[in-house]
Formats: sequence, structure tokens, C-alpha cells
Amino acid sequence: MAQAFDLVVLGGGPAGYIAAIRAAQLGLSVACIDSGVGPEGKPSLGGTCLNVGCIPSKALLESSEHFHRCKQELKEHGITTGDVRMDVPAMIARKNKIVRGLATGVTTLFAKNKVTSFAGTGRLLAGMRVEVSPLGGGTVETLEAKNILIATGSLPRDIDHVPTDGKIVVDSSGALDFTSAPEKLGVIGAGVIGLELGSVWHRLGSQVVLLEAMETFLPGADEQIADTAFKEMSRQGLDIRLGARVLAAKIGKDSVEVSYENSDGKHSIEFSKLVVAIGRKPNTQGIDVNEVGLLLDERGNIHVDDFCRTNLPNIYAVGDVVRGPMLAHKASEEGIMVVERIAGQPSRVNYDAIPWVIYTSPEIAWVGKTERQLRASARDYKVGVFPLSANGRARAMGQTVGLTKVLADKRSDRLLGVHIMAPMASEMIAEAVLAMEFGASAEDLQRTIHAHPSISETIHEAALATDGRTLNFHG
Ligand code: NAD
Repeated sequence: MAQAFDLVVLGGGPAGYIAAIRAAQLGLSVACIDSGVGPEGKPSLGGTCLNVGCIPSKALLESSEHFHRCKQELKEHGITTGDVRMDVPAMIARKNKIVRGLATGVTTLFAKNKVTSFAGTGRLLAGMRVEVSPLGGGTVETLEAKNILIATGSLPRDIDHVPTDGKIVVDSSGALDFTSAPEKLGVIGAGVIGLELGSVWHRLGSQVVLLEAMETFLPGADEQIADTAFKEMSRQGLDIRLGARVLAAKIGKDSVEVSYENSDGKHSIEFSKLVVAIGRKPNTQGIDVNEVGLLLDERGNIHVDDFCRTNLPNIYAVGDVVRGPMLAHKASEEGIMVVERIAGQPSRVNYDAIPWVIYTSPEIAWVGKTERQLRASARDYKVGVFPLSANGRARAMGQTVGLTKVLADKRSDRLLGVHIMAPMASEMIAEAVLAMEFGASAEDLQRTIHAHPSISETIHEAALATDGRTLNFHG
């Protein structure tokens, strides 16, 4: 007889595994099917984020930043180092160990919460049933479900005329596993992944060229921050070529020749490795949406409403496979909302208060509207900017490039957006997210006591600047 569950979750990434745990906490019987494999080729929960995305890239960013500091910055602090060298395989092994530890942690959490875990691929069948094909073969099972949550994530997008071979031309996952720093690294796409991975290998000694199709750098970020970031990353040595349309890539024995066109004409450039990082597409592979008549939108996302309900009763979809930003924390919150609503709670996701982070050096983070969006909406707003160079802690750290910007409604003073380019902006943005979640005003930030000296004081000062009264800067 088929096993029956209150909830069957397809996908064990940040959307699926968090939803499965929350559902179990609420007393639902839950199964989670996940087809992911880890760096050693064994089943590994945690999805793209944990196995080949957020976590491993942060591990490499950390290692490469230490190396860079030792080589470039310690001298200024009066520290003499010897011959500093990078052991890339050791760095990759550390990254894999972190991934393995966290993935095992998810397995343990499933066991503790009594979530039934299936390592395999789930396919939707009519009549609220899901077929599970185990990884590596074995008996195919059919599960019965009162509710189904699709959290199958996303896959790297590819370009037709730039085929990846997994050796010289790779996607973002491949770029996490180079065994040495490529001499000349090309990256197609100067988006979040391109900049993060480009930074890693540049710090480890690669000459890095990013070919970006758009004329605008980081169009989703605040314009002033994007301009500052472009200058800073170029100063650091990243060669970012905007308006570059890639025409072809010819893979040779040890290199790839990429031809591209920009406003100056046609160009050709040879790289030892090439990373394709032009975005991701929703993953509906294998789940057989047609079998049950699940509606997709024009971009191939599973169509859902504000509560992540699909067109079919009791079938939900969350995370990268649906509309909205492809961010792990957005995916998790959607998963929590769905299962709490199944359990009868009135949960919702505040899509206006989702933080964004780009883990470059310095980091870039924001929440809420950009000035570009406010201008387009014709809303009356005020702006407060505070430069990192006027912050004591940033100066003591020797990291003075960047700024904090607060945007507030001119009449009501309500916060509309906060944008930060600073060390650990990923941590600082939490204050702004909380403030926006509570509907705070710029005055609320002005009256909040911030520890001195700290970089978070730039939020306080930028809030003061919305009323033209910064205390530590005049300019
Ligand atoms: P992205 O959308 O951030 O950047 C892709 C870039 O490639 C864009 O700037 C786009 O203009 C450019 N591009 C597209 N086609 C091109 C072409 N043919 N030639 C040259 N350039 C081209 O996507 P990504 O960096 O691949 O990341 C994928 C997703 O993963 C994003 O949605 C991102 O939000 C998410 N992600 C988030 C984080 C984070 O939160 N820090 C980290 C990594 C990935």
C-alpha cells in the first residue's frame, strides 16, 4: 500500500527543507524528496544554496579574502609575513567539509523532527500522488499526499552558442571547484554570481574579465552604490566590460576563445577558463507539470498567487521555481507561510521587506525601494547619505570605500529603502529590514542608539542626513 502523508515536499533546499521542518513542528506527517548530491557524489540535502551556491561561495570568499589581506593589507598594520602561498585544493577541501557538515545537519534535523526523507526524484501523478525514483536506481514508490509543496529550485541558464564542457567552460557550480587559480578567467555576466566568483579567483591571482551584456552595472541596486561599486571593483583589478554581447566561444585544448561585440566593434579574447553566470531558470525538470495540468507563466515559473497557491487545489510552489527574487531567505519564508496556512494560521510574506546582498568586498546590501524606483513612482521622498570615509570604525579597519543611504517618504517620514555598501553590510541590513517590517520612520532610526564606534552608526547618520543634520560629516 502507498505511504500517505499530510504533506509531500519536492525539493530539500532552503525552501523545501525549512517547510518540511516547520510542517513537522505543526504536527503534520511530512515526506521530503530530494535529488541533490554533494561534492562527493552522495545524496546531500540543502539544495543549490548549501551544496553549490550561497554556502560554498561564502567559504571560498572567506578563504580568498584572508589570502588577499595577508598579501596586500597586513603590511600597513605593521605585520611582516613570509612567503604567503595559496593551497587551492586545501581551500576546496575546507569548503567541501563545511558543505558536508551543514548537509549532515539537515539530515539530522529531519530525523529529529520525524520528516521522512527520500533521496530521489519526485514526479507528480494525478490524484495527489507523487512517484519517487530513488537516486542510483531501485524500487520506484508512489506516495499519497493531502498537500504537495513544490520547491524544486532553479538551474543555471545557458547560452546556446556557448556550450559548457564542465572543464574549460563551466557554470557557477564548476567555478567552485577549480584545482588552481586559472591564469585568465572569463566570466559571462557581471551579476551577483559573476562578481562573487570573479572576486574569489581574482584575489587568488587570476586575471578576471567580466563580459556583461547590459550597459548598466547592477541595475537592481541603488545607482550611487552601483557607480561606487563599479569604480571600486575596477580599482581592485576586475576588468568589467559593459555592453558586451557574446557571439561565440570556441573551446581549444587548454583554453577557450570568446568573441564578443560592443559599441567599439567585434573583439576576440582567450581565457584559460570561462564561467557562464547569466542567471538561473526555474527547475521544473522531471516533475511532469503536464501530467497534472500545473500552470506555468511566460517565464517558465510555476504560476502562483500571493500565498504560493498554484492553479491546482492543495498543490503549492515556493522559492526559485516561482516568481520573485531567487534568494534563499525569500524561499524559506514562502515555505513557512505555506505550511502555516495549511495548518490554519493566517501567515503571509512581506515581499516589501526582503533583503538583498552581494558578497563582494565591500559587501552591498539593500532593502526596499531604490531611488530609481521612487522616481518612477513619482513619490515625494528624501535622501540621506553617509560616506564610510567619515566613520571612525571604518577608518580604524582601513575600509573606507562605500556609503549608507536612507530613503524616506517626504511627508510621513516612513522608511522606503536602505542601501549599504560597507564591510559586513549583510549583517547591518538586518536593522533596516526590522525597521521596515515595523513600519519605522527615519526619525525612529535617528532616535535609536547605535554603538560607537561601529559601522552601524552610518545608518544612524544617514537617517539624520534625511533631515540635513548629520553630526560627523559636512559635505
Ligand atoms: P544575475 O541575474 O544576478 O546576473 C546575470 C547577469 O548576466 C545580468 O547582469 C545579465 O545582464 C547578464 N547577462 C545575461 N545574458 C547575458 C549574455 N548573453 N552575455 C553577457 N551577459 C549576460 O544572475 P546570476 O549572477 O547568474 O545569479 C543567479 C541568481 O542567483 C540570481 O537571481 C541571484 O539573485 C541569485 N544569487 C544570489 C546571491 C546572493 O544573494 N548573494 C548569490 C548568488 C546568486
